[in-house]
Amino acid sequence: MDRDKILLTPGPLTTTLRTKLAMLKDWGSWDADFNAVTASVRKSLLAVVHGAGSHVVVPLQGSGTFSVEAAVATVVPRDGHVLVLDNGAYCKRAARLTSLMGRRCTLMPFDESQPVSPMAVADKLGADPSVTHVILIHCETGAGVLNPLREIADLCEKHGKGLIVDAMSSFGALDIDARETRFDALVAASGKCLEGVPGMGFVVIRKAILEACAGNSQSLAMDLVDQYIYMEKTTQWRFTPPTHVVVALHEAIAQFEAEGGQPARLARYTRNCETLVRGMAALGFKPFLDAAVQAPIIVTFHAPADPRYDFTAFYAAARARGFILYPGKLTTVDTFRVGCIGAIGPHEMEQAVHAIALTLQDMGIASGAPAS
Ligand SMILES: *Cc1c(COP(=O)(O)O)cnc(C)c1O
Repeated sequence: MDRDKILLTPGPLTTTLRTKLAMLKDWGSWDADFNAVTASVRKSLLAVVHGAGSHVVVPLQGSGTFSVEAAVATVVPRDGHVLVLDNGAYCKRAARLTSLMGRRCTLMPFDESQPVSPMAVADKLGADPSVTHVILIHCETGAGVLNPLREIADLCEKHGKGLIVDAMSSFGALDIDARETRFDALVAASGKCLEGVPGMGFVVIRKAILEACAGNSQSLAMDLVDQYIYMEKTTQWRFTPPTHVVVALHEAIAQFEAEGGQPARLARYTRNCETLVRGMAALGFKPFLDAAVQAPIIVTFHAPADPRYDFTAFYAAARARGFILYPGKLTTVDTFRVGCIGAIGPHEMEQAVHAIALTLQDMGIASGAPAS
């Protein structure tokens, strides 16, 4: 049937009809109408984290990782030393791109089922004065863990370290307040909790550090200072903008604001997450994380112990019923993931659980319970 499947994935995700319809128009990249949309989007994004006056928003073409890479290259001097707090796959990706750009990088490993420990980070920062910057992933989408942004930001401030935050899967849903939480750069993208379509990222940069960042980046296209200066001067993007993505994000932000902004989005995602976990528990499934450290963004479930379980077949059967699941990303445990974000509510989550129940029946699996 010609009907969109529900995406239970952490981006791209299900968008509203209004957001999709916003893309049915051509825009000139130099045109004043389009540039007004860009300006409005930048202003709204800044307001989400209460950064007016103290911070700027610099958008960048590409998927979210492009913006993480651009933020590191722009903010960290070439002789800087970055400490990556590592409790999952996206942390390892941030470390890899940092090294590839020639910055010294140290990984500080943590268990992927736990938030990073501020106490351990305090010890490390006290013991190694060569560290200049810290990278924290706010919500580690690999397992779905919520990391303690405020505590790590306070530590970085206390020890005089720069902080780069990958807030890709939390921006717009979890509370981030730039008035209280000090960061140098905070990165997110169009196609996550703001419920736009994928294709652009953006970096919230603290004004106080902006000038000193000039010349850090070894990349032309990903130099955020250059992008910022050009945009301020001309109102235009430096190179061809993803016009349809920008107007879709503009429309998605209008709906975000009408819904009640970040608190309302968090409330809806929290209901989604609760509905999912409760429904799955009734089928025997067990979440990988303790509820206390679970962000309401994406839930990792243990694979069922039943020998008839196979993710590929499970995925295909759920897909045939209209729901797109996500594979697990953990190194040691067999899991799969279900996203709670996107233009969906508890009703869709109930339907998803029902589809999964029927999928288990199809596969002859009596229970989703993992090996004990
Ligand atoms: C989605 C995501 C990214 C960006 O991934 P892309 O595939 O480049 O969009 C980065 N970090 C986290 C934590 C994410 O969830």
